[in-house]
Amino acid sequence: MSKSGYPESLQESLAKVRETRSKRIKLAKKQRYYDRLSPNEYQKVLHKYHPDYAPEGRKVLKVGPNKGDLLQKELSDILQGQPWIVPDAFDKRLKSPDLNTDVLIIGGGGAGSAAALLASEQGVNVTVATKLRHGDANTMMAEGGIQAADLPYDSPYYHFLDAFGGGHFTNDKNLLRALVLDAPLVIQWLETLGVMFDKETDGTMKELKGGGLCRRRMHSSKDMIGMEIMRVLRDEVQNKVDKIKILEFCPAVELLLDETGTIGGAILYNLDNQEFIVVKAKAVILATGGYGRLHLHGFATTNHYGATGDGLVLGYRLGIPLRNLKYAQFHPTGAVFPEQSAGMLITEKVRTLGAEPVNCDGERFCHPLEPRDVESALIIRECVERGKGVVTPTGRVGVWLDSPMIDMIWGEGTVEKVLASKYLQFKRYGIDISQEPMLIFPTLHYQNGGLSINEWGETIIPGLFAAGEVSGGVHGDNRLMGNSLLDINVFGRRAGAKAAVFAKKRKRMKALTLRHLEEYLKALKMAKIKPQIKSPIILPDYRNQEAKAKMLG
Ligand SMILES: Cc1cc2nc3c(=O)[nH]c(=O)nc-3n(C[C@H](O)[C@H](O)[C@H](O)COP(=O)(O)OP(=O)(O)OC[C@H]3O[C@@H](n4cnc5c(N)ncnc54)[C@H](O)[C@@H]3O)c2cc1C
Repeated sequence: MSKSGYPESLQESLAKVRETRSKRIKLAKKQRYYDRLSPNEYQKVLHKYHPDYAPEGRKVLKVGPNKGDLLQKELSDILQGQPWIVPDAFDKRLKSPDLNTDVLIIGGGGAGSAAALLASEQGVNVTVATKLRHGDANTMMAEGGIQAADLPYDSPYYHFLDAFGGGHFTNDKNLLRALVLDAPLVIQWLETLGVMFDKETDGTMKELKGGGLCRRRMHSSKDMIGMEIMRVLRDEVQNKVDKIKILEFCPAVELLLDETGTIGGAILYNLDNQEFIVVKAKAVILATGGYGRLHLHGFATTNHYGATGDGLVLGYRLGIPLRNLKYAQFHPTGAVFPEQSAGMLITEKVRTLGAEPVNCDGERFCHPLEPRDVESALIIRECVERGKGVVTPTGRVGVWLDSPMIDMIWGEGTVEKVLASKYLQFKRYGIDISQEPMLIFPTLHYQNGGLSINEWGETIIPGLFAAGEVSGGVHGDNRLMGNSLLDINVFGRRAGAKAAVFAKKRKRMKALTLRHLEEYLKALKMAKIKPQIKSPIILPDYRNQEAKAKMLG
């Protein structure tokens, strides 16, 4: 056997995993996995072990449309944060905006890019303002796949039922209906634009099952589907330089209304020269993604650096209700070792291909494809309550995800070929995941809910749309794998098309105002809230006191 990439302290446990592997392989080949839990048992383990079912770490919202809701502390703090903008200071600047556009899209990830393409098709001028570079986004990082019911024995009906069950029956049915019905069209659209999906030798789509699915409907591109989709959407947008203007390193810090209460634009903050930019727009689409970088309950995260929930803050200040935000999605399989990769996603595809989670003794303890929230809770139970986790030299704890099973089931070379990116990421640290398992623990992954929208991405503010992870309802309380990449395309496209129509119809705009911000500040004062932080956060601050002490100012 080749040299192990793990330290001596983990070798005893690794030997036990090797010992039990051949027996587990025999069972896996016969599709005999650890028993699934019943719906009643789901509820029991979720309430006992899922981080978001515990009452601790929560704070009541005291202002806004969701006043009274008990949300995660980190989320409540940004929703009740101190704005960057002092309304009076902008009186003059609102009268002479720096930029005029028909449709302003805030966020240059997947949803924003899909929206930009559909909006520009209608002949309006489009501006995309994004926090970092175009494509620096969670979309770029997606690994496993995108769902669409397009095989003969599948149908949007089954897709709907799977997602509804996975969401604990709390999904908005109209949104879910739009999601599953548009899905085959979205796959065709992406393929026409140039997305290279994995194919069978006869040219048909290669499709796999995922957690919570009753049919094979996961379309993939090795384990880099997000990078492939983002590559194509970004190219398409950037090819339309005459129609779509891109402002990079320009996060939105506040939205603007006009005097009638219709959307009016946004104030951006240029991270390069630290100047504010006032943009007047006939329609605005929020596509800012999720809040994974808030590290809820102190968990590690899979998310990109700019995922700080900004869109939630901007929309909430305008009075848009939030939904399905009680439970965040913790992905069951985040890397625990090596330390540099802590929190990094290990795609669900690894389990889809047959790798099982096993404890420090090499024993199975859960079905490998329970819904994500349940699987996470079971891993936490194994480590915390049963003490069957594996402790790393830095004190992190996790269980093994037995990836060598994949080559043993599907043939030598499968891991390297099908999980190419994960293979290389671990190889860099001397771990060959086709020979040795990965150490994993749940990691903060996805926002589940967000701003309320209808099936066209419209919010309650005329002319303001939201699409993608910033919005809520389509996935209910728990998203299934592959439905978010679908969501961003379905609702990005819908919002883009509708926003363009709205902009075309809107002939004249009244004066821009920040009145909603004045009211929000008043509400904070009335509720005696002293904001803990400035929000939107824009970028998370990882400096410790020692580092800060050495810095200017
Ligand atoms: C590691 C990983 C793997 C995943 N794998 C899958 C998968 O296999 N299948 C699946 O369906 N889903 C997957 N997901 C989820 C999915 O990728 C995301 O939910 C989805 O891509 C979000 O798209 P979005 O356009 O809404 O947000 P993003 O792609 O995150 O884009 C949001 C953009 O808005 C920008 N932004 C943020 N705040 C502001 C602001 N104030 N002003 C301007 N711009 C701003 C951000 O910088 C970013 O560019 C995965 C997620 C991660 C993190």
